[in-house]
Amino acid sequence: MTETTAGFCEKCIAESTDESSGSYREGLFGHEFKGEARKCPACSSHVAVLWKQFLGFPVKPVGCYRYKMTGVNFGGTNFLSRRVPDDAELIGKTRSGGILTMIVIIAIVGALIYFGRK
Ligand SMILES: [Zn+2]
Repeated sequence: MTETTAGFCEKCIAESTDESSGSYREGLFGHEFKGEARKCPACSSHVAVLWKQFLGFPVKPVGCYRYKMTGVNFGGTNFLSRRVPDDAELIGKTRSGGILTMIVIIAIVGALIYFGRK
């Protein structure tokens, strides 16, 4: 069992490749996995899109991965990932989700400035 196959069931390994996203920098200027599709009942992994983001806004999709969280520690999230073919529908969905998040953030910041002046 290699590092990339650990934790995934045979079905999920079969539909994905050994290519892992590796570790990535999380945060507003880093990368983030967005979306959740085709959740697997056997190994509880799901398909997510890895986005390159700027100020929390998704800029460019890096690719789709079968993603499985293995734990959370002080350094961030531990996860396993295996590349799957790009899912255009999921990429579109997570992109609009990012825009929605952006609108909400702008609205909150705007409200804070507005009420802060009173
Ligand atoms: Zn599975």
